[in-house]
Amino acid sequence: MASIREKVYWKAPYFAKNWMASWNARRLNRERFGPDYEQALREIAERDKWAPAQFEEHQRRELQKLARHAAEHVPYYRKLFAEIGVDPAEIKGPEDLVRLPILEKSTVRADPLCLLDERLDRRKLIVLHSSGTTGTPLTLYRDVRLNSTSTAFADARCHDVAGVRRRRNKSVSIGGQLVTPTNQTKPPFWVWNQRWQQLYMSSFHLAPQNLDHYVARLREFGGEYIEGYPSSIYVIARHIVDNKLEPVRFKACFTTAETLSDCQRQAIRDAFCCRTYDQYGCVEAVIFAAECPERNMHLSPEIGIVEVVDENDNPCEPGQVGQLICTGLVNHVQPFIRYRLGDIGMLSSDTCPCKSPLPLLGLIEGRTNAALVTRDGRRFGRVALFVEEAFGVAEAQIIQFDYDKFVVRVVPASNYTEADGQKVISNLKYSVGEADVRVELVDRIERTAAGKFQAIICNLPDTSSSGLAGGGV
Ligand SMILES: [Zn+2]
Repeated sequence: MASIREKVYWKAPYFAKNWMASWNARRLNRERFGPDYEQALREIAERDKWAPAQFEEHQRRELQKLARHAAEHVPYYRKLFAEIGVDPAEIKGPEDLVRLPILEKSTVRADPLCLLDERLDRRKLIVLHSSGTTGTPLTLYRDVRLNSTSTAFADARCHDVAGVRRRRNKSVSIGGQLVTPTNQTKPPFWVWNQRWQQLYMSSFHLAPQNLDHYVARLREFGGEYIEGYPSSIYVIARHIVDNKLEPVRFKACFTTAETLSDCQRQAIRDAFCCRTYDQYGCVEAVIFAAECPERNMHLSPEIGIVEVVDENDNPCEPGQVGQLICTGLVNHVQPFIRYRLGDIGMLSSDTCPCKSPLPLLGLIEGRTNAALVTRDGRRFGRVALFVEEAFGVAEAQIIQFDYDKFVVRVVPASNYTEADGQKVISNLKYSVGEADVRVELVDRIERTAAGKFQAIICNLPDTSSSGLAGGGV
């Protein structure tokens, strides 16, 4: 499972881990912050002066380019356009998209390469894995340009709003990377990336007995902003608030990947004396939205066209909640046209008091706060962790019945083998410890009445009393 680089990292002493984190950032600098990043920043700054109609015109132009490109260079779309008898030149604007079918994750999962621009050398691409909200493991590809563009949008439309910039300001990040073994019981539960001035903290060690260590390190560190999963940041914030500790001051908090609840915002404000800026995106690079000073989510229309559809896939009116269907305009590496993300939201025709020309996106649901809870109070809210490398899994849902009892419902894909089930079991045990884990193969996983997919269901009697629960699901 681990690469040679990872194996060396695990065995290294702490100072060497720090050095390796900085070394890794050097590579990531090339993939994210090179000339393409600078160019994208300049273009975004220019477009920020635009009126809404200019964004609409831009979307039309880019969609026409995308349709032509996909039909010419992407095997899946070449076949699709031929099969349904649509000339890509007829796709002139978002209103023409309904002529094309919705692209499901199962199609991407079954053959990610058929969506790839066939002219690209795969060895030079950045390979990413994601399972989003439905536990469907996907292999996704980016080139340096796409990666840099995505990074530029996050910086310009999210970090800049709070007056900070990645790499320029000292920051704390609490995310999904395993920086230290899960069974480690003593600090450090973090690693220092000198190159980015970033203290990267583990989200896997947030057990009650470790929280004083986390708070002490944050206090000593004196970073300017904190970012990461809201459920992880909230655990530390609640510890500060509940124990009436002196707040640790930050200028801003940035959250992503999970739904942010009001009680999380409040705890973060009390513990860190700053406001939270939520952002929303995905590895497929087909949508990006970030909060403005008025706390409204503004879409970046250059990244993609967003449609909202009801349970019968008919278009919703503005203000009506439905499923998000996205067409990525900057991702020409692996184009996604009318892609069902699996999240719920709505478009709004309101104008925001912040006067931004960018359209509003409302009510993002689907990125649930439900989490598995271990006896020592650690929480695991991301199903992605457990389906890693189980490529025969089409969808997965994990149900926790006790601290050491789990059932994993798996919708098997056609290439599913026993080994995929074993992989899920070993991934789960790696995080939660020894447990009784049963894999149940099912035809489909029921959605909630709102069409929401619940990747994790925790049936422990009362996890909220642990003081760690992350607000409404
Ligand atoms: Zn606004």
